[in-house]
Amino acid sequence: MDKFFIDDEYIKKLLEVRAADDEIDRILDKAESFEGLNHREVAALINTDDEKHWKRIFSIAGKIKEHIYGERIVLFAPLYISDYCVNKCRYCGFKCDNKFNRKKLTMDEIRSEVKILEAMGHKRLAVEAGEDPVNCPIDYVLECIRTIYDMKLGNGEIRRVNVNIAATTVENYKKLKDIGIGTYILFQETYNKEAYEKYHIAGPKRDYYYHTTAFDRAMEGGIDDVGGGVLFGLYDYKYEILGLMLHNEHLEEKFGVGFHTISVPRICSADGVDRSFEYAVSDDDFKKLVALIRIAVPFTGMIISTRETMEMRKELIKTGISQISGGSSVEVGGYTAREEGGSQFRLKDDRSADDIIYWLMEEGLVPSFCTACYRKGRTGDRFMSLAKSGNIKNVCLPNALLTLKEYALDYGNERFANKADELIKSKIPFIKNDKVRETVKENLVRLENGERDLFF
Ligand code: SAM
Ligand code: SF4
Repeated sequence: MDKFFIDDEYIKKLLEVRAADDEIDRILDKAESFEGLNHREVAALINTDDEKHWKRIFSIAGKIKEHIYGERIVLFAPLYISDYCVNKCRYCGFKCDNKFNRKKLTMDEIRSEVKILEAMGHKRLAVEAGEDPVNCPIDYVLECIRTIYDMKLGNGEIRRVNVNIAATTVENYKKLKDIGIGTYILFQETYNKEAYEKYHIAGPKRDYYYHTTAFDRAMEGGIDDVGGGVLFGLYDYKYEILGLMLHNEHLEEKFGVGFHTISVPRICSADGVDRSFEYAVSDDDFKKLVALIRIAVPFTGMIISTRETMEMRKELIKTGISQISGGSSVEVGGYTAREEGGSQFRLKDDRSADDIIYWLMEEGLVPSFCTACYRKGRTGDRFMSLAKSGNIKNVCLPNALLTLKEYALDYGNERFANKADELIKSKIPFIKNDKVRETVKENLVRLENGERDLFF
């Protein structure tokens, strides 16, 4: 076989590179022009412990965030449909040797969960499931997605369903594409094969090559928005960052487009997981790695979940994160159970969605429920070329403002609506294109008059 795109020896050699100051300056000059970096350049930066370079990396990450993403922050919620799992991933509460009453949602239960999510104002979901070909086959996942898209509550509707399910076949990816999923998300967990095999003791997920080539099959199946990620804490984070870069470059070379998003989950405690993680990433290193990914792939969305605290989320939004989850439950049926007073897995940010949205506005950020790109066919390389040309800004801020207005009208109380109106008014002048700015003003009035789902 040709050399696999994740080459352990090669990554280890890269981790020994020590770049001179002038070389690091050259790389940072390149990063400053929003060109992105290749994996060799990322290796040179990751190995520096000189604070002056890190200061500059944070500053460039902040500039990229501001210039490309502005102040908008996209919101989504996870929806766990089934916790049946045949795998034994040592870090996960769903692993097959954990004994608890497993559950998968019936279509009525899906509707009940989605009703609650729609009542929170969510428009974008990430469907999550354990791997179990018998209890959670692809046809069941497809039926769930169809049910979600069909469910409407007043003005509420889910407009984009992203999917985070186990690595599968080209045929199954085609089915997911045909049903209209947004991004197919799969975390690599760790790029280091030895660590991967240590943590994945049994089940189909144990096959490192099958897992690592999942996005190749997804793209062959026609899915062009794929979302990667690493579970930080399983292995050396520097190795993982280089793994992410090499994976991204592999997809770019082979399919013309790399990751649409990168998620950066850090390991959390879970039921039946009674071990400490020797590679647990400190808060300082975590901030560094987020900033580094931001400058390396400026046009790739970065996602953080409620695994992180409010303070950490706030810091990371400044230097790279463009999407966060809010009001989340990470249990099957957890939204309904919460409403009924049942117990819930303790998250590090367990504020309700409206608290998070209000907090974002107080921070001067624009919460966005936008789902326009994929519905306008701006996916894969079409999205990337628009992003790289800088023209994406002409649609992102307007769509963020329009979806925030919708949210305020449908779900906000008076205090919320006033805050949102004030924020929207202050951001309109930042829309550069005269025609777009005027259309936004007209559309805000149309929304007040009862129309919905107006987007660019
Ligand atoms: N079962 C599928 C899989 O493993 O790819 C997808 C869904 S799984 C519920 C989603 C992700 O949760 C996993 O990819 C893993 O990275 C993450 N996860 C599992 N246990 C975790 C833990 N203890 N702390 C943080 N994230 C965890
Ligand atoms: Fe958990 Fe996914 Fe592993 Fe199953 S396959 S044990 S859900 S991480």
